[in-house]
Amino acid sequence: MKFVTSVAALAILATPAIAADKDWNFGDGEMPERWSLENSQYSLCDSGLMQSPVDLSQHKAHGQVTVTTNYGATAATLAVAKEKVQLDFPAGQGMMSGGKQFNLLQVHFHTPSEHAINGKRYPLVAHFVHATDAGELGVLGVMFEEGAVNAGLQGLVASMEEGSGADLTVDTAAMIPDDLSVYRYMGSLTTPPCSEGVNWHVAKATMTASADQIAALTEELGPTARSLQPLGNRLLVAPGH
Ligand SMILES: [Zn+2]
Repeated sequence: MKFVTSVAALAILATPAIAADKDWNFGDGEMPERWSLENSQYSLCDSGLMQSPVDLSQHKAHGQVTVTTNYGATAATLAVAKEKVQLDFPAGQGMMSGGKQFNLLQVHFHTPSEHAINGKRYPLVAHFVHATDAGELGVLGVMFEEGAVNAGLQGLVASMEEGSGADLTVDTAAMIPDDLSVYRYMGSLTTPPCSEGVNWHVAKATMTASADQIAALTEELGPTARSLQPLGNRLLVAPGH
């Protein structure tokens, strides 16, 4: 594979979980992955000071960041590959945060969650990846605990047998909590090339998914959480007073 051209770099920005002929792998989620040793294009993964994920309990401030979405029923196309389960969306849905309109591109999943709270990871997380018209990335993370079945995940889990290219309709609103109080900080893609400048939002309220749904995604994905990264001097705002 040739090194990225500017056009390919844009494609990578729009599709963080590049799985087709990827030359890196997730580790055990604890040890540093050292992806820069796999490819010099990934140097930021090991040298960057604004990397993700982080432990969200390290917040230094409280504040109410208002996030709104226009999520709802939408067409989606499934993309499945090694360490990747993703739904790609046509234009039309998005989130507003900090006065910026972020357009929803795709949602993908990790087992377990990448961000942690007090060191605890949840069994499943959904990362809704957005970009502004100017190309600024914004991610909304939603953690899932084992419990009641999640209606938004049902079509996805059923379509995984069909594999990549499956067309389905999903209700993205059913995958996010009503209360969109979020942890907010500036971070990075959690996969190579680990590009920074990502507006991270992680909902404090969690959702539930059934044991079967979590098992199906865990079996398909395998361990897909990057190790926790140092917060450093970054401001991490937690929801609340
Ligand atoms: Zn992700």
